[in-house]
Amino acid sequence: MATKTESLLIAARNAHKTSEFREIFGERYRVDDLATYPQLPEVDETGTTFEANSKLKAIEISQQLPELLVLADDSGLEVDALDGAPGVYSARYSGEEATDASNRTLLLVRLSNSGARGKARSGRFRCVLTLALKGEVLHQTSGSAEGIIANEEKGDHGFGYDPLFIPEGHCQSSAELRSEIKHGMSHRGRAVEAMQELMRTDGLL
Ligand code: IMP
Repeated sequence: MATKTESLLIAARNAHKTSEFREIFGERYRVDDLATYPQLPEVDETGTTFEANSKLKAIEISQQLPELLVLADDSGLEVDALDGAPGVYSARYSGEEATDASNRTLLLVRLSNSGARGKARSGRFRCVLTLALKGEVLHQTSGSAEGIIANEEKGDHGFGYDPLFIPEGHCQSSAELRSEIKHGMSHRGRAVEAMQELMRTDGLL
């Protein structure tokens, strides 16, 4: 059985993602991310699917830190009118120096050029989680959340494409919704729920 002092390392340097995972696993685990291990090199996300990149990150980091339980998240936004872009390139959509703001601006330009309007601006967030220990995958789970890409940014919670994403059944963007609502129905929330169930079965939760 895990104790509260055990560590769960999130294989990411994204403070927003880490704080979302801390809200979820923080009661049971000390949740850190790669900011605690600045000496570790960046993992090259060479895969072409969320599954492949998530696995790559989990395995590489857990080989380097074999004493830690490692959770990798690979996620992104797929937009139907853009043939699934930005997809696995979500974080670097507008280039190597991309910021969340520059990625959102490019997405709005490309969608506007595509001519897609209203319901044709459909898409989904996808998230694939991989749990690894000592370089071996323990579990992989995934989740998705459908929605519409808004015409303009709204709200200041969350990160990434949240200000542009209107989850199905809502009329506000993910960046306007309270975090409990976002987590309950989000791609990451769903992948986490499936992972928690598997971790409970293993006695890791
Ligand atoms: P990753 O860190 O390589 O998985 O890149 C994920 C990218 O997808 C982020 O930089 C965001 O641009 C986007 N993304 C993933 N999850 C979310 C979310 O929950 N809200 C908003 N954007 C997200």
